[in-house]
Formats: sequence, C-alpha cells, structure tokens
Amino acid sequence: MFAKTSEVKVMRDPVHGYVHVQDQLIWDLINSRWVQRLRRIRQLGGAYVVYHCAEHTRFSHSLGVYEIARRMCYEVPDIDHALNEKEKMTVMAAALLHDSGHGPYSHAFESISHTSHESVTCRVIEHDPEIRAILENGYHGMAKNVADVIRHKSANPLLSQMISSQLDADRMDYLLRDAYFTGTTYGTFDLERILRTLRVENDQLMIKASGVYAVENYIMARYHMYWQVYYHPTARAYEAILRALFQRLKDSGMLEEEYVLPQFKALREGKKLSLEEYFRLDENACNYGFEMLEQCNDPILRDLSSRLLDRRLFKFTDYSPREVRRLSKVLKEKGYDPKYYLMKDEVGQRPYVPYNGEAGSIFVLMEDGSIRELSNASNIVYSLIHGPDRDEKKIFIPAL
Ligand code: ZN
Repeated sequence: MFAKTSEVKVMRDPVHGYVHVQDQLIWDLINSRWVQRLRRIRQLGGAYVVYHCAEHTRFSHSLGVYEIARRMCYEVPDIDHALNEKEKMTVMAAALLHDSGHGPYSHAFESISHTSHESVTCRVIEHDPEIRAILENGYHGMAKNVADVIRHKSANPLLSQMISSQLDADRMDYLLRDAYFTGTTYGTFDLERILRTLRVENDQLMIKASGVYAVENYIMARYHMYWQVYYHPTARAYEAILRALFQRLKDSGMLEEEYVLPQFKALREGKKLSLEEYFRLDENACNYGFEMLEQCNDPILRDLSSRLLDRRLFKFTDYSPREVRRLSKVLKEKGYDPKYYLMKDEVGQRPYVPYNGEAGSIFVLMEDGSIRELSNASNIVYSLIHGPDRDEKKIFIPAL
C-alpha cells in the first residue's frame, strides 16, 4: 500500500554501515525542511568543547534511529509478525522525526526557552504543512498516530517501546554514535546481539535470557557515557555560559536593537516561539547572533558571547552554600555580577530504573518461559540499582 522508491537508497553511515530507504514516504520526510534543519543542530550541544570531533548532528542520529527501527521491523521476526504495514511505517516515521523539535545546544536550550523538545516535535509532526502532508499522504490520520508514538499514547504500545523506552532505537543509536564521534570506546556494546535476541510477548518488547549479557553491557555503556561525556563538567561550563548569556539578554533594557539577532527577540521577550521562529533558531544562527552581540553596548553580553566563541570557559568547583557565599563576595570585589558569573547546576543519572513510568522496564524472557524484570535476571544490574544514587552539583565561575 505504501509507494516504494525506484531503487533502494543507501546512505553511508559510520555506525551502521548503511542506512537503507525503500519507502517514498521516508525519503520525502528525509528531504523535508524540518529534517534537513537537523544538520544545523549538533547532537551533543557543548560537548564538542571537550571532545573536538563531537560535531555530529541530530540529522545523522535521526537517520540512525530510523535504521535501527527499520531493522527491528523487518529483521526481528517477532516484531515483523506483530506489526502490520501501517504500524511499521508509523514507527519508522516516528523514529526519523523523534528529535525534529530539538533547539540549538541540546538540552541547555530547553531551560532557556522553557520548551521541551518532545512537545515541539509533536507540533512539527501535526502542524507543519509539509510534514503533515507527507504523512497524511501515507494514510489518513498518520500525523496524529506518529505524534502519539512520541507521546506514549499509541494504540499499540509496542511502537513507543521501540523508540522510547529503556532499551530502544533512540538510546542504542545515540550511545554508539556519541561513542564513535567522541572517540570513547566505553560507549560501545553489541547492537547485533541485542537485535538478534529481541522478542515480543503480549505486546511487550523483551530480551531473550541469552541476550542479557549484551544488555548489561549496554546499561554499563550508558552509565559511562553519562559521566564521561554527557555530564562532563567542562561541557556543562559551556552550557552555564549559554544560560547566563540568555538571562542577560532578557535583563538588558538598554541594548542596541541592531545587534540583536531577530531570532533572539522572541526569546528575549519570554514569548512562546512560533514554529517558524523555532525553525530559524539553529546553531548557525546562534553563532552569528553571538558574533553580533560581541559588538553591542552591553559589556556583559560582549564578554559572555566572546567566551562562547573563543572557548574562554568558566571554571568549576563543588557546590556548597558556604562556597557560593564566599565566591559571590570575591566576584563582586573583582567587578563581576554573580547573577551572570556564578552559575550552578546539578546532574544525576541512574543507568536503569525498574518500572520507570512511560519508559517502563526491560523484561527478560527466561528459558522456562517465565518473564522477569531485568534486575531480577542480572546480578550486575541488581547491584547497580541497589547502590547509592550518584549526583553531582557544581558551581561555575570565571577564572579569577
Ligand atoms: Zn534521539
């Protein structure tokens, strides 16, 4: 029922070898302006200031998530049997589009703009005329069904589990891709083994007992990538400066308008961005916006924007209320306003959480046919979730 491309299109990919496309609908989505925009958004926000090759984009990640979802649909026999053609197309489109609502600088931007990328993604899928027309051309009601996969409201829960759960195409692609582009080998795990041992029982995705070792490896990879890459304090220092800069942009009343990028104006006024304003706010635009601010009449904006462009980052130290008071005093003495020059953040991560709301659990199909939640089938995962939680709170300040 879905039109095929005249030949199978293949795109070289360092993680998957090739990304394969044979459906016209998927090809049209890849060529849409919202998916092409993802070439202008880096996958890892500020991590490239630490790992200099981490310049890969949300575009390549989105293709990778699509490729894993496609392989699940056609190469995992249980999924191939469980889904009809409409559901397969719906989940592959959702995989390709799942990050289309991402703003610049990854998650740092979500706190600046008070948006969540999931909600913008659903707006794009249901309201952008081009994306909506491509999907509705597939079948009537497809745009809503694709957005429902992202919202975990799909009529068939298996679709959401495939792209948004604790063992899903999204996480599997970003761990492998981010490990490859940062050069950190501890993010790798055996994707082929996981795909080979995936099973479906009662509409629930699970792993065969013999795949547990590969899943343990994946959970450990995730743990290491969070602390070594995603939460690297130097990358967080970069994001702290971004937050300070946008805060200052909101507070600076006497700013010369000609040095403020049009895309920054709605953010400055704290307005909800229209889809078109959001579309034009990519990392290329932001970098140009920072170059313009380097020439404005506000010394704090000049300084913060040149810190981002020239990588003159803040230093970091462990948080304590006493240290905040002491450093605020020192900063004031040196002429720095602590509102923009003393930033805090707290990060915490648990590599696996049993029965975790929408993300659910990872279930294991044992040899006797019984089903166990992962921490009851793996000693390593059991130890990991019963250990103390790890979180890290830091203060970021300029070198004094
Ligand atoms: Zn993603």
